[in-house]
Amino acid sequence: MQISNIIVGELYTNCYVISNNSECIIIDPGAEPDKIIDFLESMKLTPKLLISTHYHADHVGGVKNLVEKYDVEFAIGKNDLNFLDAQPAWVSNLISTYEKPISPNILLLGGETINLLDLDIKIISTPGHSPGSICIYVENSIFTGDTLFKNGIGRGDLPGGDINQEITSIKDKIFQLPNDIDVFPGHGDKTKIINEKNDNIHLK
Ligand SMILES: [Zn+2]
Repeated sequence: MQISNIIVGELYTNCYVISNNSECIIIDPGAEPDKIIDFLESMKLTPKLLISTHYHADHVGGVKNLVEKYDVEFAIGKNDLNFLDAQPAWVSNLISTYEKPISPNILLLGGETINLLDLDIKIISTPGHSPGSICIYVENSIFTGDTLFKNGIGRGDLPGGDINQEITSIKDKIFQLPNDIDVFPGHGDKTKIINEKNDNIHLK
């Protein structure tokens, strides 16, 4: 398994490409689909699934173009479904390449294991930043979207958000995972569980 990070859009979203041989899964194709497509073509990768960690425009803005090009399925947390169509305009307006995503083919509840690319991709429900926020746990890595950042957490004041629920999700779900796993957040640098337990000032 290989993890690549393509930073896309005006909000510097981390779009992650998990690949194994010639196939890949794309997490948070949030903007600049042409930049993502250029990367896939240069690496000769075929996407088998798009997963967004949550509904916010900067995490779904590139979905439509990728689906049109690759005929790939799009998965998102079920509890974010109604918010996808009620995107706050001030957020989507920040993303110049934003296109309204297709309706998701797969709705995730958390607890699922998706078997693709010879990997077990575990979905963890972590509501709070948005009602349907999910984390994606595969091998020794977790992709946390905007729920947990390096020394930060996502805001809880966007539609459907709840900051206390978000902190509970982090402590009761993410922090129960092994301390040494790599955390790949939706924005900013990667980190490890142990570092956030020890250092994250928002979780003291
Ligand atoms: Zn967000």
